[in-house]
Amino acid sequence: MAMPKYVCPACALTGNAIVIQKGSRKVEILLWCCLIVPGLIYTLWRQGTTKHYCRTCEVEMISVKGPHGQRLTGA
Ligand SMILES: [Zn+2]
Repeated sequence: MAMPKYVCPACALTGNAIVIQKGSRKVEILLWCCLIVPGLIYTLWRQGTTKHYCRTCEVEMISVKGPHGQRLTGA
């Protein structure tokens, strides 16, 4: 099983994430079809805006690698 990367600071659950990205998948595909370079830039920009939210608490999840995340997961 893969190690979870994010933990919810409110309920300490991992693997409960909703991934939210800015921009739209349709625009991304359109750009890739027409023009490769703006498509690549758009994809990289979207990856930079990726956030993980807890499905239950709707708060932003934090990295399990951070000091607070390690305390929550007991790692
Ligand atoms: Zn939660």
